Amino acid sequence: MSTTVKAAVFTAAGAPPTIQDLVLPDPGPGEVRVRLVAAGVCHSDLSLSDGTLPQIWPAVLGHEGAGTVEAVGDGVTEVTPGQRVILNWAPPCRECWFCAQGEPHLCEHALDRALGTYAELTDGTPVYPGLGTGAFAEATVVPAHAVVPLPDGVDPAAAAVLGCAVLTGWGAVVNSARVREGQSAVVLGLGGVGLSALQAARLAGADPLIAVDASPAKEELARALGATDFLVADGSLTKAVRALTGGRGATTPSRWSVRPRSCARRGTRRGAAEP
Ligand SMILES: [Zn+2]
Ligand SMILES: [Zn+2]
Repeated sequence: MSTTVKAAVFTAAGAPPTIQDLVLPDPGPGEVRVRLVAAGVCHSDLSLSDGTLPQIWPAVLGHEGAGTVEAVGDGVTEVTPGQRVILNWAPPCRECWFCAQGEPHLCEHALDRALGTYAELTDGTPVYPGLGTGAFAEATVVPAHAVVPLPDGVDPAAAAVLGCAVLTGWGAVVNSARVREGQSAVVLGLGGVGLSALQAARLAGADPLIAVDASPAKEELARALGATDFLVADGSLTKAVRALTGGRGATTPSRWSVRPRSCARRGTRRGAAEP
């Protein structure tokens, strides 16, 4: 048995995608089929499609996806049909050396799925899932451990970007810069990741929280998401940040104490989130 769905299929680096029928096999042991409701477009999708990042063709890209489980293979106990989920493009195997050391973000097998085919075109041509997920389609088949249950009431379109952009911005603030309440922070660039970093810095209590972008049109959104100040990126940026931070620059003391060499190597006094 199989299921035929529409998908945006990329056939070569630099070539635009075309909407084609994609034949998905029924989920095998440990796999689930997810009917997708929303997908985000990450910059990595652009980099994969234009050849900046390696990709085997033909492929269905898209790795920020939200949807509903509609079928499960043998042995799947994590989710059942009807469960709303988001996709995880780097699911840890929980068995390799890094996973055993409690560092699942370094899992040696997180991207294994991207190296194999998962579906076919109607002429039998095998198709690869971009970053293992293939979210630019009506449905996809992924390992059960590559889906994360989604609570009721969360908008799928907003939930989809939890799969990459939001976590990247949040991680920059919480794991890398380690912003604490009352520290100043500057976020450079207000794309999907930058806007996520901005909101994470607001939640962390950064003040002042300075948003910077090349486009003045981003100011209204930046302030709505928590920026206390907005600056247009130009040659006077450093001076302007110092003026807003008592001459200190946007510093995070915790970072100075935890990773002083990193800051020194950068040759900057900034320690803020810079996604
Ligand atoms: Zn991404
Ligand atoms: Zn692992």
